Amino acid sequence: EPGLYLVATPIGAARDITLRTLDILASADVIAAEDTRSLRKLMEIHGIALGDRPLLAYHDHNGARVRPRLMADISGGKSVVYASEAGTPMVADPGFDLARAAIAEGMPLTSAPGPSAVITALTLSGLPTDRFLFAGFLPNTASQRKSALSALVDVPATLVFYESPKRIAAMLRDAATVLGGSRPAALARELTKKFEEVQRGTLDTLAEEAAAHPRKGEMVVLVDRASSQNISFSEIEEMLQDALAQMSVRDAADT
Ligand code: SAM
Repeated sequence: EPGLYLVATPIGAARDITLRTLDILASADVIAAEDTRSLRKLMEIHGIALGDRPLLAYHDHNGARVRPRLMADISGGKSVVYASEAGTPMVADPGFDLARAAIAEGMPLTSAPGPSAVITALTLSGLPTDRFLFAGFLPNTASQRKSALSALVDVPATLVFYESPKRIAAMLRDAATVLGGSRPAALARELTKKFEEVQRGTLDTLAEEAAAHPRKGEMVVLVDRASSQNISFSEIEEMLQDALAQMSVRDAADT
């Protein structure tokens, strides 16, 4: 069937690919991937021959150039499959403009769901999963990171961030400062891989641990919502001071 097929690929364990994604990869007329080498390898692992089908790189830097070709293929009756480097396309990965173009041109759009680090990390975190906000990667500079975190202070949901090992210690330190060090939090590392590990604690304990023992690998940070149960003494003191200050302002206005 002609159309654009978005497929999720494993975030570590190669066997986490779905049977439907394998079917689509085996039958698509045109294959597009953020990283052609890793998709080629994945297809090899699962015994899917590329044959003489085109395998094109599609990512943020060449999207504007490659997109018209893929759209033309679909209008010409071909099926086009797109996979990002790992996990679900468009989740902190390219694919958005491609999907939008297909929608704008009224082309059939299909998604074959599968792995994503955000969902995998949530299920292991021990934090509430009823509501969550996926915040992706925070900005790299400290000041921009802090202001992005400030905008999330009152969000009544578990917060989920992607972060690189290079910045994890600084990110956790800033998160502790801005969101509150006593908030329950988790750091999920190398999910579905050999050295999968989940550390659970508070933003303070995770920040200390990350500073003392730097670790490598892919990481997801999860933070519990603000609640009266995880406000620190210093935060309570600050709130009391604010309330007292407001009362004295009001007293002054009354008299
Ligand atoms: N599209 C992917 C998804 O659906 O999860 C995410 C792509 S994003 C460019 C890569 C980031 O996702 C990593 O820096 C890390 O924060 C997170 N990630 C991906 N794989 C992971 C894994 N196996 N364990 C922990 N985090 C992972």
